[in-house]
Amino acid sequence: MDGVKRIALLGATGSIGRQAIEVIDAHPELELVAAASGSQPIEGLAPLTQSGGDLTELLQRAEPDLVLNAVVGFAGLAPTMWALEHGVTLALANKESLVAAGELALAARERGGGQLIPVDSEHSALFQCAQLGEPESVVLTASGGPFRGRTRAELADVTREQALAHPTWSMGPKITIDSATLANKGLEIVEAHFLFDLAYDSIEVVIHPPSIVHGVVRFRDGASIAHLGYPDMRVPISYALTYPERAATPVPPLELRTLEFHAPDTETFRMLALAREAGERGGTYPCAYNAANEVAVQAFLERRIGFLDIAALVEDVLGRGDWQPAHDLDELVEADRRARDLVAVAT
Ligand code: NAD
Ligand code: MG
Repeated sequence: MDGVKRIALLGATGSIGRQAIEVIDAHPELELVAAASGSQPIEGLAPLTQSGGDLTELLQRAEPDLVLNAVVGFAGLAPTMWALEHGVTLALANKESLVAAGELALAARERGGGQLIPVDSEHSALFQCAQLGEPESVVLTASGGPFRGRTRAELADVTREQALAHPTWSMGPKITIDSATLANKGLEIVEAHFLFDLAYDSIEVVIHPPSIVHGVVRFRDGASIAHLGYPDMRVPISYALTYPERAATPVPPLELRTLEFHAPDTETFRMLALAREAGERGGTYPCAYNAANEVAVQAFLERRIGFLDIAALVEDVLGRGDWQPAHDLDELVEADRRARDLVAVAT
Protein backbone atom coordinates (compact mmCIF):
# COMPACT_ATOMS: atom_id res chain seq x y z
CA MET A 1 0.00 0.00 0.00
CA ASP A 2 1.46 3.42 -0.80
CA GLY A 3 1.04 5.71 2.18
CA VAL A 4 -1.47 5.70 4.96
CA LYS A 5 -5.19 5.18 4.27
CA ARG A 6 -7.30 7.57 6.34
CA ILE A 7 -10.53 5.90 7.44
CA ALA A 8 -13.83 7.29 8.70
CA LEU A 9 -15.77 4.59 10.56
CA LEU A 10 -19.51 5.07 10.96
CA GLY A 11 -21.29 2.72 13.33
CA ALA A 12 -18.05 2.33 15.30
CA THR A 13 -19.72 0.86 18.40
CA GLY A 14 -21.55 -1.92 16.56
CA SER A 15 -20.60 -5.48 15.71
CA ILE A 16 -18.96 -4.55 12.40
CA GLY A 17 -17.56 -1.31 13.86
CA ARG A 18 -15.75 -3.06 16.71
CA GLN A 19 -14.27 -5.69 14.40
CA ALA A 20 -13.19 -2.93 12.01
CA ILE A 21 -11.29 -1.20 14.84
CA GLU A 22 -9.48 -4.48 15.51
CA VAL A 23 -8.50 -4.71 11.82
CA ILE A 24 -7.40 -1.05 11.70
CA ASP A 25 -5.34 -1.39 14.91
CA ALA A 26 -3.47 -4.36 13.44
CA HIS A 27 -2.37 -2.39 10.34
CA PRO A 28 0.00 0.56 10.61
CA GLU A 29 -1.05 1.69 7.11
CA LEU A 30 -4.68 2.09 8.19
CA GLU A 31 -5.44 5.20 10.25
CA LEU A 32 -8.75 5.85 11.98
CA VAL A 33 -9.33 9.60 11.51
CA ALA A 34 -13.03 9.79 12.41
CA ALA A 35 -15.60 7.61 14.16
CA ALA A 36 -19.33 7.93 14.75
CA SER A 37 -22.03 6.12 16.68
CA GLY A 38 -25.79 6.52 16.87
CA SER A 39 -26.02 7.36 20.56
CA GLN A 40 -23.26 5.62 22.54
CA PRO A 41 -20.38 7.83 23.76
CA ILE A 42 -17.19 7.38 21.70
CA GLU A 43 -14.95 10.33 22.59
CA GLY A 44 -11.27 9.51 22.27
CA LEU A 45 -11.77 6.64 19.82
CA ALA A 46 -10.49 8.78 16.94
CA PRO A 47 -9.25 12.38 16.45
CA LEU A 48 -12.76 13.33 15.28
CA THR A 49 -15.81 11.67 16.83
CA GLN A 50 -19.54 12.23 16.72
CA SER A 51 -22.45 10.61 18.47
CA GLY A 52 -25.70 11.07 16.56
CA GLY A 53 -26.35 14.07 14.35
CA ASP A 54 -25.56 14.59 10.67
CA LEU A 55 -22.88 12.06 9.70
CA THR A 56 -21.99 13.94 6.52
CA GLU A 57 -20.74 16.89 8.61
CA LEU A 58 -18.21 14.59 10.24
CA LEU A 59 -17.15 13.23 6.82
CA GLN A 60 -16.82 16.76 5.46
CA ARG A 61 -14.45 17.69 8.30
CA ALA A 62 -12.51 14.40 8.29
CA GLU A 63 -11.74 14.32 4.53
CA PRO A 64 -11.15 10.53 4.66
CA ASP A 65 -9.67 8.34 1.91
CA LEU A 66 -12.24 5.66 2.76
CA VAL A 67 -15.60 5.61 4.50
CA LEU A 68 -16.60 2.37 6.22
CA ASN A 69 -20.37 2.62 6.58
CA ALA A 70 -21.32 0.17 9.35
CA VAL A 71 -24.43 2.03 10.49
CA VAL A 72 -27.52 -0.18 10.74
CA GLY A 73 -30.60 0.63 8.67
CA PHE A 74 -31.81 3.47 6.46
CA ALA A 75 -29.92 5.89 8.74
CA GLY A 76 -26.86 4.92 6.70
CA LEU A 77 -28.24 6.52 3.53
CA ALA A 78 -26.70 10.00 3.86
CA PRO A 79 -23.09 8.82 4.34
CA THR A 80 -23.44 6.26 1.53
CA MET A 81 -24.60 9.01 -0.83
CA TRP A 82 -21.93 11.43 0.42
CA ALA A 83 -19.07 9.01 -0.24
CA LEU A 84 -20.37 7.98 -3.66
CA GLU A 85 -21.05 11.58 -4.70
CA HIS A 86 -17.59 12.75 -3.59
CA GLY A 87 -15.70 9.87 -5.18
CA VAL A 88 -14.42 8.70 -1.79
CA THR A 89 -13.94 4.93 -1.56
CA LEU A 90 -16.97 3.42 0.17
CA ALA A 91 -16.59 0.16 2.09
CA LEU A 92 -20.25 -0.72 2.52
CA ALA A 93 -21.61 -2.89 5.31
CA ASN A 94 -24.85 -0.87 5.45
CA LYS A 95 -26.75 -2.88 2.82
CA GLU A 96 -30.03 -1.12 3.64
CA SER A 97 -28.88 2.12 1.98
CA LEU A 98 -28.01 0.39 -1.28
CA VAL A 99 -31.23 -1.63 -1.27
CA ALA A 100 -33.37 1.44 -0.63
CA ALA A 101 -31.53 3.88 -2.90
CA GLY A 102 -30.13 1.51 -5.59
CA GLU A 103 -30.50 3.61 -8.75
CA LEU A 104 -29.77 6.93 -7.01
CA ALA A 105 -26.68 5.44 -5.35
CA LEU A 106 -25.32 4.05 -8.62
CA ALA A 107 -25.93 7.37 -10.37
CA ALA A 108 -24.00 9.11 -7.56
CA ARG A 109 -21.14 6.64 -7.95
CA GLU A 110 -21.09 7.35 -11.69
CA ARG A 111 -20.78 11.08 -11.01
CA GLY A 112 -18.27 10.69 -8.18
CA GLY A 113 -16.14 8.08 -9.90
CA GLY A 114 -15.06 6.40 -6.65
CA GLN A 115 -14.99 2.77 -5.60
CA LEU A 116 -17.77 0.84 -3.90
CA ILE A 117 -16.42 -2.22 -2.09
CA PRO A 118 -18.92 -4.51 -0.36
CA VAL A 119 -18.27 -5.60 3.23
CA ASP A 120 -21.25 -7.96 3.41
CA SER A 121 -19.52 -11.36 3.44
CA GLU A 122 -21.40 -12.85 0.47
CA HIS A 123 -20.90 -9.77 -1.68
CA SER A 124 -17.27 -9.46 -0.68
CA ALA A 125 -16.92 -13.08 -1.79
CA LEU A 126 -18.62 -12.37 -5.13
CA PHE A 127 -16.58 -9.18 -5.59
CA GLN A 128 -13.39 -11.17 -5.08
CA CYS A 129 -14.49 -13.93 -7.49
CA ALA A 130 -15.54 -11.28 -10.03
CA GLN A 131 -11.92 -10.07 -10.23
CA LEU A 132 -11.48 -13.08 -12.53
CA GLY A 133 -14.15 -12.20 -15.08
CA GLU A 134 -17.63 -10.88 -15.74
CA PRO A 135 -20.22 -12.86 -13.68
CA GLU A 136 -22.93 -14.52 -15.76
CA SER A 137 -24.87 -15.45 -12.63
CA VAL A 138 -24.16 -15.69 -8.91
CA VAL A 139 -25.10 -17.81 -5.92
CA LEU A 140 -25.60 -16.27 -2.49
CA THR A 141 -25.35 -18.70 0.39
CA ALA A 142 -27.47 -18.45 3.54
CA SER A 143 -26.99 -20.32 6.80
CA GLY A 144 -30.76 -20.67 7.06
CA GLY A 145 -30.74 -19.05 10.50
CA PRO A 146 -31.93 -20.54 13.80
CA PHE A 147 -35.28 -21.69 12.36
CA ARG A 148 -34.07 -23.63 9.34
CA GLY A 149 -36.25 -26.68 8.71
CA ARG A 150 -39.23 -25.41 10.71
CA THR A 151 -42.78 -25.15 9.41
CA ARG A 152 -44.87 -21.98 9.56
CA ALA A 153 -46.91 -23.42 12.44
CA GLU A 154 -43.70 -23.98 14.40
CA LEU A 155 -42.70 -20.34 13.91
CA ALA A 156 -45.87 -18.74 15.25
CA ASP A 157 -44.72 -18.58 18.86
CA VAL A 158 -40.95 -18.26 18.59
CA THR A 159 -39.48 -15.72 20.99
CA ARG A 160 -37.09 -12.82 20.57
CA GLU A 161 -34.38 -14.83 22.37
CA GLN A 162 -34.81 -17.83 20.05
CA ALA A 163 -34.66 -15.56 17.00
CA LEU A 164 -31.53 -13.84 18.32
CA ALA A 165 -29.60 -17.13 18.69
CA HIS A 166 -27.89 -17.30 15.29
CA PRO A 167 -26.11 -20.61 14.61
CA THR A 168 -22.98 -19.35 12.80
CA TRP A 169 -22.60 -15.53 12.91
CA SER A 170 -22.47 -13.15 15.88
CA MET A 171 -24.01 -9.85 14.73
CA GLY A 172 -26.11 -6.86 15.79
CA PRO A 173 -29.77 -7.52 16.75
CA LYS A 174 -31.44 -6.15 13.60
CA ILE A 175 -29.45 -8.25 11.11
CA THR A 176 -29.76 -11.28 13.41
CA ILE A 177 -33.57 -11.08 13.22
CA ASP A 178 -33.25 -10.51 9.46
CA SER A 179 -31.24 -13.72 9.29
CA ALA A 180 -33.97 -15.61 11.14
CA THR A 181 -36.71 -14.39 8.74
CA LEU A 182 -34.34 -14.63 5.71
CA ALA A 183 -35.03 -10.93 5.06
CA ASN A 184 -31.27 -10.56 5.30
CA LYS A 185 -30.85 -12.82 2.27
CA GLY A 186 -33.71 -10.96 0.60
CA LEU A 187 -31.91 -7.64 1.10
CA GLU A 188 -28.76 -9.30 -0.20
CA ILE A 189 -30.49 -10.34 -3.45
CA VAL A 190 -31.28 -6.68 -4.12
CA GLU A 191 -27.80 -5.66 -2.98
CA ALA A 192 -26.25 -8.12 -5.48
CA HIS A 193 -28.51 -6.82 -8.26
CA PHE A 194 -27.16 -3.30 -7.81
CA LEU A 195 -23.53 -4.20 -7.04
CA PHE A 196 -23.03 -6.60 -9.94
CA ASP A 197 -25.60 -5.30 -12.44
CA LEU A 198 -27.33 -8.69 -12.61
CA ALA A 199 -30.94 -9.51 -13.47
CA TYR A 200 -32.86 -11.07 -10.58
CA ASP A 201 -33.12 -14.45 -12.29
CA SER A 202 -29.32 -14.55 -12.36
CA ILE A 203 -29.13 -14.32 -8.56
CA GLU A 204 -29.72 -17.64 -6.82
CA VAL A 205 -29.95 -18.32 -3.09
CA VAL A 206 -28.98 -21.65 -1.54
CA ILE A 207 -29.11 -22.71 2.08
CA HIS A 208 -25.68 -23.73 3.31
CA PRO A 209 -25.78 -24.27 7.10
CA PRO A 210 -22.01 -24.28 7.87
CA SER A 211 -21.45 -20.82 6.28
CA ILE A 212 -18.15 -21.86 4.72
CA VAL A 213 -18.91 -21.10 1.06
CA HIS A 214 -19.81 -17.39 1.01
CA GLY A 215 -20.57 -16.97 -2.66
CA VAL A 216 -20.19 -18.51 -6.11
CA VAL A 217 -19.73 -16.68 -9.41
CA ARG A 218 -20.57 -18.52 -12.60
CA PHE A 219 -18.86 -17.47 -15.83
CA ARG A 220 -20.07 -17.96 -19.40
CA ASP A 221 -17.51 -20.68 -20.16
CA GLY A 222 -19.05 -23.05 -17.63
CA ALA A 223 -16.49 -22.35 -14.92
CA SER A 224 -17.66 -21.36 -11.44
CA ILE A 225 -15.46 -19.82 -8.77
CA ALA A 226 -16.44 -20.10 -5.12
CA HIS A 227 -15.11 -18.17 -2.14
CA LEU A 228 -14.61 -20.22 1.04
CA GLY A 229 -13.58 -19.36 4.56
CA TYR A 230 -14.65 -19.56 8.18
CA PRO A 231 -17.55 -17.23 9.03
CA ASP A 232 -15.59 -14.28 10.40
CA MET A 233 -16.38 -10.71 9.36
CA ARG A 234 -12.80 -9.61 9.93
CA VAL A 235 -11.98 -11.19 6.56
CA PRO A 236 -14.35 -9.10 4.39
CA ILE A 237 -13.68 -6.01 6.54
CA SER A 238 -9.93 -6.42 6.08
CA TYR A 239 -10.36 -7.04 2.35
CA ALA A 240 -12.43 -3.87 1.90
CA LEU A 241 -10.04 -1.72 3.95
CA THR A 242 -6.84 -2.96 2.31
CA TYR A 243 -8.12 -3.55 -1.26
CA PRO A 244 -6.46 -4.04 -3.73
CA GLU A 245 -3.94 -5.59 -1.34
CA ARG A 246 -4.72 -8.61 0.85
CA ALA A 247 -3.50 -8.24 4.43
CA ALA A 248 -2.99 -10.87 7.13
CA THR A 249 -5.80 -11.54 9.65
CA PRO A 250 -5.86 -13.81 12.74
CA VAL A 251 -8.41 -16.08 11.01
CA PRO A 252 -7.03 -19.64 10.73
CA PRO A 253 -6.57 -21.39 7.38
CA LEU A 254 -9.60 -23.37 6.27
CA GLU A 255 -9.81 -27.11 6.78
CA LEU A 256 -12.08 -28.71 4.23
CA ARG A 257 -15.04 -30.76 5.33
CA THR A 258 -18.34 -31.97 3.92
CA LEU A 259 -20.41 -29.08 2.63
CA GLU A 260 -24.18 -29.28 2.37
CA PHE A 261 -26.56 -27.20 0.31
CA HIS A 262 -30.41 -27.12 0.10
CA ALA A 263 -33.04 -25.09 -1.69
CA PRO A 264 -34.60 -22.38 0.51
CA ASP A 265 -38.17 -22.81 1.79
CA THR A 266 -39.71 -19.61 0.42
CA GLU A 267 -43.23 -20.60 1.51
CA THR A 268 -42.20 -20.56 5.17
CA PHE A 269 -39.65 -17.77 4.86
CA ARG A 270 -41.79 -15.28 2.95
CA MET A 271 -39.33 -12.43 3.33
CA LEU A 272 -37.02 -14.03 0.79
CA ALA A 273 -39.70 -14.22 -1.91
CA LEU A 274 -41.01 -10.75 -1.07
CA ALA A 275 -37.57 -9.19 -1.54
CA ARG A 276 -37.17 -10.77 -4.93
CA GLU A 277 -40.63 -9.54 -5.94
CA ALA A 278 -39.88 -6.05 -4.65
CA GLY A 279 -36.58 -6.02 -6.54
CA GLU A 280 -38.21 -7.15 -9.76
CA ARG A 281 -40.94 -4.53 -9.47
CA GLY A 282 -38.25 -1.88 -8.99
CA GLY A 283 -39.14 1.73 -8.22
CA THR A 284 -39.33 2.28 -4.48
CA TYR A 285 -40.57 -1.26 -3.80
CA PRO A 286 -37.17 -2.24 -2.34
CA CYS A 287 -37.16 0.96 -0.27
CA ALA A 288 -40.64 0.15 1.05
CA TYR A 289 -39.64 -3.45 1.74
CA ASN A 290 -36.64 -2.28 3.73
CA ALA A 291 -38.51 0.41 5.66
CA ALA A 292 -41.44 -1.86 6.54
CA ASN A 293 -39.01 -4.56 7.64
CA GLU A 294 -37.04 -2.16 9.86
CA VAL A 295 -40.18 -1.04 11.71
CA ALA A 296 -41.56 -4.58 11.97
CA VAL A 297 -38.25 -5.97 13.29
CA GLN A 298 -38.14 -3.24 15.93
CA ALA A 299 -41.72 -4.11 16.96
CA PHE A 300 -40.75 -7.80 17.19
CA LEU A 301 -37.66 -6.95 19.28
CA GLU A 302 -39.95 -4.97 21.59
CA ARG A 303 -42.31 -7.99 21.79
CA ARG A 304 -45.21 -6.02 20.28
CA ILE A 305 -45.72 -8.45 17.36
CA GLY A 306 -45.04 -12.10 16.62
CA PHE A 307 -42.37 -13.51 14.34
CA LEU A 308 -44.70 -14.26 11.41
CA ASP A 309 -46.20 -10.77 11.64
CA ILE A 310 -42.94 -9.34 10.26
CA ALA A 311 -43.52 -10.83 6.80
CA ALA A 312 -47.28 -10.23 6.97
CA LEU A 313 -46.75 -6.52 7.65
CA VAL A 314 -44.15 -6.14 4.90
CA GLU A 315 -46.36 -7.94 2.40
CA ASP A 316 -49.26 -5.68 3.32
CA VAL A 317 -47.18 -2.52 2.81
CA LEU A 318 -45.89 -3.68 -0.57
CA GLY A 319 -49.46 -4.43 -1.68
CA ARG A 320 -50.89 -1.14 -0.47
CA GLY A 321 -48.82 1.49 -2.20
CA ASP A 322 -47.89 2.17 -5.74
CA TRP A 323 -44.19 2.38 -5.05
CA GLN A 324 -43.11 4.57 -7.94
CA PRO A 325 -39.44 5.34 -8.66
CA ALA A 326 -37.89 8.17 -6.64
CA HIS A 327 -36.34 10.88 -8.82
CA ASP A 328 -34.29 12.34 -6.00
CA LEU A 329 -33.36 11.72 -2.39
CA ASP A 330 -36.31 13.74 -1.07
CA GLU A 331 -38.74 11.44 -2.89
CA LEU A 332 -36.87 8.42 -1.60
CA VAL A 333 -36.96 9.63 2.00
CA GLU A 334 -40.68 10.30 1.53
CA ALA A 335 -41.29 6.72 0.27
CA ASP A 336 -39.33 5.36 3.25
CA ARG A 337 -41.42 7.47 5.63
CA ARG A 338 -44.70 6.40 4.01
CA ALA A 339 -43.83 2.72 4.37
CA ARG A 340 -42.78 3.24 8.01
CA ASP A 341 -46.04 5.01 8.79
CA LEU A 342 -48.08 2.17 7.27
CA VAL A 343 -46.41 -0.38 9.54
CA ALA A 344 -46.45 1.89 12.58
CA VAL A 345 -50.24 2.20 12.56
CA ALA A 346 -50.54 -1.59 12.31
CA THR A 347 -48.24 -2.43 15.24
P1 NAD B 1 -25.05 -3.05 15.27
O1 NAD B 1 -26.44 -2.85 15.73
O2 NAD B 1 -24.16 -3.95 16.05
O3 NAD B 1 -24.32 -1.62 15.17
C1 NAD B 1 -24.93 -0.54 14.51
C2 NAD B 1 -24.07 0.70 14.62
O4 NAD B 1 -24.78 1.77 13.96
C3 NAD B 1 -23.83 1.17 16.06
O5 NAD B 1 -22.54 1.72 16.16
C4 NAD B 1 -24.87 2.29 16.24
O6 NAD B 1 -24.49 3.27 17.19
C5 NAD B 1 -24.90 2.88 14.84
N1 NAD B 1 -26.15 3.58 14.54
C6 NAD B 1 -27.40 3.12 14.69
N2 NAD B 1 -28.29 4.06 14.31
C7 NAD B 1 -27.57 5.14 13.92
C8 NAD B 1 -27.90 6.43 13.43
N3 NAD B 1 -29.17 6.82 13.30
N4 NAD B 1 -26.89 7.27 13.11
C9 NAD B 1 -25.61 6.90 13.27
N5 NAD B 1 -25.22 5.69 13.71
C10 NAD B 1 -26.19 4.83 14.04
O7 NAD B 1 -25.13 -3.53 13.75
P2 NAD B 1 -24.11 -4.43 12.93
O8 NAD B 1 -24.45 -5.86 13.12
O9 NAD B 1 -22.71 -3.98 13.17
O10 NAD B 1 -24.54 -4.08 11.43
C11 NAD B 1 -24.20 -2.86 10.81
C12 NAD B 1 -24.51 -2.95 9.32
O11 NAD B 1 -23.68 -3.94 8.74
C13 NAD B 1 -25.95 -3.36 9.02
O12 NAD B 1 -26.37 -2.72 7.86
C14 NAD B 1 -25.83 -4.86 8.76
O13 NAD B 1 -26.83 -5.34 7.89
C15 NAD B 1 -24.46 -4.92 8.09
N6 NAD B 1 -23.82 -6.24 8.22
C16 NAD B 1 -23.48 -6.69 9.45
C17 NAD B 1 -22.87 -7.93 9.60
C18 NAD B 1 -22.43 -8.44 10.94
O14 NAD B 1 -21.75 -9.48 11.01
N7 NAD B 1 -22.75 -7.77 12.04
C19 NAD B 1 -22.62 -8.71 8.45
C20 NAD B 1 -22.98 -8.22 7.20
C21 NAD B 1 -23.57 -6.97 7.10
MG1 MG C 1 -24.32 -11.22 4.44
